[in-house]
Amino acid sequence: MPVLTRLIPSPVVVDIRPGALDDLANVLADERISHSGKLAVAVSDGSGARLRERLAPSLPGATWYEVDGGTLDDAVRLAGDMKAGHYDALVGLGGGKIIDCAKFAAARVGLPLVAVPTNLAHDGLCSPVATLDNDAGRGSYGVPNPIAVVIDLDVIREAPARFVRAGIGDAVSNISAIADWELANRVNGEKIDGLAAAMARQAGEAVLRHPGGIGDNDFLQVLAEALVLSGIAMSVSGDSRPSSGACHEINHAFDLLFPKRAAAHGEQCGLGAAFAMYLRGAHEQSAYMARVLRRHGLPVLPEEIGFTVDEFVQAVEFAPQTRPGRYTILEHLDLKTDQIKDTYADYVKAIGS
Ligand SMILES: [Zn+2]
Repeated sequence: MPVLTRLIPSPVVVDIRPGALDDLANVLADERISHSGKLAVAVSDGSGARLRERLAPSLPGATWYEVDGGTLDDAVRLAGDMKAGHYDALVGLGGGKIIDCAKFAAARVGLPLVAVPTNLAHDGLCSPVATLDNDAGRGSYGVPNPIAVVIDLDVIREAPARFVRAGIGDAVSNISAIADWELANRVNGEKIDGLAAAMARQAGEAVLRHPGGIGDNDFLQVLAEALVLSGIAMSVSGDSRPSSGACHEINHAFDLLFPKRAAAHGEQCGLGAAFAMYLRGAHEQSAYMARVLRRHGLPVLPEEIGFTVDEFVQAVEFAPQTRPGRYTILEHLDLKTDQIKDTYADYVKAIGS
């Protein structure tokens, strides 16, 4: 009988709970991850150093690599340093930059990656994309999905609040990204992957509608799971479509136009999503999204992340150029500067203060 289902590339272990790090050594000892115990571990020199002290005794076969930042050069250097090591796997232990660096380096030397994020700033912790700064600004590189994801909510609670909250904006922006996908389907006949869309949308809705906040473990559980599912949704569809539409084009525009002043990815995506929902005429959903983002202390107006209205208008106008070929509400409406200004003024009125 033919197999009519498809196989989905996904991690063999997803462990999200308070205290998960205490079992990291057991997870790594899984035959499919490391049978010899020879592991490379990439850490930041900041929060990574404390975790190294805690974890080193339980990982005697590990070699530790300190990673400076999140540039393509850092990732290439890490790959070069690991080349001679004959490791079974690379463990990326730290914030988003370390995970991205480790994802790229692992792919380059053909090792599986175990992602152990220490904050929830964005959905890259389990996605097939590494975002790295390069000479041209910032690039997205396709990589395999991690083989395992371990998120210790006790560790997440110690992360700076801003890097946990930002993940809320990235998760919620899925709702706008899916609406863009549906628009592209209606207008251009672009095919929607229903499973990827379902996973990404449910992840966004769960975070949007959860009454809790980043101080509660049950909210952190839902947020962490939502970010992991968003990442896997991207593996299912084979691109970032389920989690990236006009919201992300606006975010990329901020990054490219104002590289020194850009805010956190999730902060910019949340703002971009609330505005994009307004643009598509979903005024109630836009206002609801803005209310939720505000409740979590996230920006819904450009001045809340240090940008003027004119700079925001400039970013919205530039946004379609950041992802050529991706059809979203921005490409659909093809707004001129004055129209963006007017719509922004209406958006501000609609979300209230
Ligand atoms: Zn994102």
